Amino acid sequence: MAVHGASLEGQVANAPGLSSTGLAIPQDAGAASSSIINSLIGDNPYFQAGFGLMGVGVGLTVLRQGLVFGTTALRRRLLVSLEVNNKDRAYEWFLAWLAHNAQSAAPTSSRRAESWLRSHQLSVETAVEQRSNGSSSVLFRLVAGPGTHWFKYGGAWMQMKRERETRSMQLTSGTPWETVTVTTLSRDRHLFSKLLTEARDLALRGQEGKLVIRTAWGIEWKPFGQPRRKRPLHSVVLDTGVSEKVEQDVKAFLRRRQWYADRGIPYRRGYLLHGPPGSGKTSYIQALAGSLSYDICLLNLSERGLGDDKLNHLLSNAPERSFILIEDVDAAFNKRVQTSEDGYQSSVTFSGFLNALDGVASGEERIIFMTTNHFGKLDPALIRPGRVDLSVLVDNASPTQARTLFTRFYGGSESVQPELVERMGQQVEGLTTKEMSNGREISMAALQGLFIRNSAQDAVKTLPELFVERRT
Ligand code: ADP
Repeated sequence: MAVHGASLEGQVANAPGLSSTGLAIPQDAGAASSSIINSLIGDNPYFQAGFGLMGVGVGLTVLRQGLVFGTTALRRRLLVSLEVNNKDRAYEWFLAWLAHNAQSAAPTSSRRAESWLRSHQLSVETAVEQRSNGSSSVLFRLVAGPGTHWFKYGGAWMQMKRERETRSMQLTSGTPWETVTVTTLSRDRHLFSKLLTEARDLALRGQEGKLVIRTAWGIEWKPFGQPRRKRPLHSVVLDTGVSEKVEQDVKAFLRRRQWYADRGIPYRRGYLLHGPPGSGKTSYIQALAGSLSYDICLLNLSERGLGDDKLNHLLSNAPERSFILIEDVDAAFNKRVQTSEDGYQSSVTFSGFLNALDGVASGEERIIFMTTNHFGKLDPALIRPGRVDLSVLVDNASPTQARTLFTRFYGGSESVQPELVERMGQQVEGLTTKEMSNGREISMAALQGLFIRNSAQDAVKTLPELFVERRT
């Protein structure tokens, strides 16, 4: 190393125009350095070729950069993009809209579709449609898969790019993040809002007259199956005045938002429907939600992975216009049920549940319905006002309920005269009285089963056999 240093010093000292300290000497410096460069490069063909190539390379790079820059600028000026991410509700709406329009543009369709899709990358979306009688059917819908697609809308061509993020997932649902980017010419930007409105209207039209049931999916509420047909409220036959009492209470609560706000009271109300199984508690809550155009958020307190924090989050973040329905609320804190066969224990604690019910004071509307078959097992802390504001008994069939259900089933049928139905209805009412049934009872669900399977005459004949001792 020392040798290299000494020889370099020597060279520098001897170089023309440089002092031994390495400082430049002004006189003839330019001429001297150019003569060195000339002697090194000018006569060297390799250097000349290298410089030539470098020049070409630099030129090409500049040209490419210029092109990229120019295209970007042109794109910015001429094109406009809309990005929708699968966190947003518009994402589902848009894909459904596109699928709908692709279908209506199928060659067999005589309808003229404004937009169409020709794509080789499709995804399938499967949905289970559950009917009120318990049967279900599976539906498939083909939607645009990840990739690039083209369609025409409002006379303008649009490019749609669906991209999937493979490295990260939505923590709550485990589904990958996705984005759809729709690009079109700048002058057609107004079409975006038109398109989104159309997609939204299409989605909402599909839900019209339907009840949407959501379940907890991580910390989010997600639709469960397809929206169901609404059940008319009068089809759930409760004892005299019960249905009206609950309905009026809910309606009065909904009218009093301002009243609550003025007094600083959290705007929420809790209902408890208790009574034997098959008396219509769940059916009534769903029918009531439907009649008010509310959705149902179904919460299962014994669900795996549901802890106090998640529960609190879910209760505080339920979608607007929805009832939160907690079924069999006694079972969640009943030791026997809490531990499943594999030793799993629900991690919602009773105090955590009470805290979640109380929640943080907020102006958000919250309507909670709870049901139980065992009112006596409930902790008094749960049913105090503020947590349960209205508690009603929904019982086994009373004589009036039995008669009403009978006339609903057989009335209007051509095979039985209206007067006969009326008379048999009275018979059913008589048979259901305590004296006639020896204090035994029948659930509305059992009556429904009887009426579905039998003719009016057979139903009246079989009825006395179906009464059972009341289970406590
Ligand atoms: P619960 O929640 O009290 O256990 P459900 O609402 O699940 O009862 O009712 C079970 C079945 O019985 C449903 O198919 C429903 O149509 C029928 N049902 C029960 N009660 C009534 C009622 N009061 N009026 C009409 N149908 C009823």
